[in-house]
Amino acid sequence: MLAYVFGLLAHRLRLQPLVGYLLAGIAVGPFTPGFTADASLAAELAEIGVMLLMFGVGLHFSLKDLMAVAWIAVPGAIGQIVLATLMGAGLSRVLGWSWIGGFVFGLALSVASTVVMIRALQERRILDTDRGRIAVGWLVVEDLAMVLALVLVPAAASIASGGTDVPIGRMALSLTVTLAKVTGFVAVMLVVGRRAIPWLMHHTAHTGSRELFRLAVYVIALGVAFGAAKLFGVSFALGAFFAGMVMGESDLSQRATEEAMPLRDAFAVLFFVSVGMLLDPEVFVRSPLAVLATLVIIVAGKSAVAWLIVRAFGRPNATAFTVAASLAQIGEFSFILIGLGIELDLVPPLARDLVLAGAILSIILNPLMFALLVRPTLVETPAAAPAPAPASAGHDVLVGYGRVGSWIGARLAREGRRRIVIEASDDGLERARGDGAEVVAGNAADPSILAEANLAEARRLFVTVPEAFEAGQVVQQARAANPALEILARAHSDGAVEHLQNLGADLVVQGEREIAERMIEHARAKDRRG
Ligand code: AMP
Repeated sequence: MLAYVFGLLAHRLRLQPLVGYLLAGIAVGPFTPGFTADASLAAELAEIGVMLLMFGVGLHFSLKDLMAVAWIAVPGAIGQIVLATLMGAGLSRVLGWSWIGGFVFGLALSVASTVVMIRALQERRILDTDRGRIAVGWLVVEDLAMVLALVLVPAAASIASGGTDVPIGRMALSLTVTLAKVTGFVAVMLVVGRRAIPWLMHHTAHTGSRELFRLAVYVIALGVAFGAAKLFGVSFALGAFFAGMVMGESDLSQRATEEAMPLRDAFAVLFFVSVGMLLDPEVFVRSPLAVLATLVIIVAGKSAVAWLIVRAFGRPNATAFTVAASLAQIGEFSFILIGLGIELDLVPPLARDLVLAGAILSIILNPLMFALLVRPTLVETPAAAPAPAPASAGHDVLVGYGRVGSWIGARLAREGRRRIVIEASDDGLERARGDGAEVVAGNAADPSILAEANLAEARRLFVTVPEAFEAGQVVQQARAANPALEILARAHSDGAVEHLQNLGADLVVQGEREIAERMIEHARAKDRRG
């Protein structure tokens, strides 16, 4: 409830809602007066959010996608982990900690948070683009590296403490076992899971019970994650990612699954609350300089390294900046690592406070990083652009180029009209380019993206995206930009029709009602003939 109230307040103050969620966490945490919530329960519920989130990402990912980005994600993530760890270790030397402590501290600063990254990419609709996939691939590699790190840290600790009882051989053995387990998990998923999961889904779909179907989705997402963690020592998030990837291969189950995912967002919010609960705000007063240095490493150091690596691989600036901004924060893995460091007596408790403060500040700053680094737009005019219509007639703007938008676009193309398409997914953009339209890549609800379509001079706007909230934002902004613009919008419920009309749409077409009308029309025509 507090997360909701604070989230609303943050929104009112033009801040990201997640700032409100974090504050809600601090408010119910043990370090502030008043009510104290159950921190371990909050963390467990947040874990469900992480699993469902990664499961959802997996749904949009195929093995092919993963392989396609591996050549940059693997060296990139490893290079970045090494360099970020060195920076963290450097800082910890200044603070007077041991080398091995510095190593753990640096590692903790080197991994990004799954939740923060995925939400950021989703919100800006970059998840399904080339640069979004590189960022996700990078995250997967980081996640795998951390599984190994959790094995290596205790071993390295006992060596560092002069423990002659841990021969290098044993360390190598435990590392090999871990690697074998991870490989085993991937192999099991690709061989068994790939057959069993789609089969299970289709079988369940045929029962005709929606309840059972939704249950199957959650059971597979959480079940595979749990099995991955218990049997193979892989993280929950990675397990869920693979479950999603395997399930997403069949189109039917993917569509249906997305409908069954509303729990995801609610639990992801709890992630931020649970992070807030861990923070002791006193650290800002006690060691402000150390907090600042930690923050600089996370926000500036890590993103600079990521940017350099992506550029070194010959990728464009837009990709490099997206990856850099995505990784300029830390989260769940950092807490686990630093907790381990404290347990093994490698770092003082201050290290945890620094990691937590760094995490919270970097999460709060993350939207700013995106605003600064990621230019959301990418406008191109095709080589074979049709002759522009006379300026007085204005151009047409299409928002969304999927099943609905591409039909309209093809018609307009035949009429030789100038079209600007705003689309978020690479597939849709590809289609629009193929049809000879000018394209703007990104989330149309984002004012800076919408501005690229030059609505003030447009003749007509087709809002063909299915989601009523986003469509509403587009309609509202468009109406403000051009009172004379003709706005046609798509809806899927009576509520959405009313919403869009109130915001200024001239025509709102309710998809389901049109389907019904056509069916009735057909039946009537048959009756008349019969
Ligand atoms: P369909 O439902 O097949 O007509 O597809 C809708 C299309 O709209 C898809 O290609 C989506 O990628 C695209 N889309 C959905 N929401 C947005 C948005 N907010 N901004 C830009 N494109 C969007």
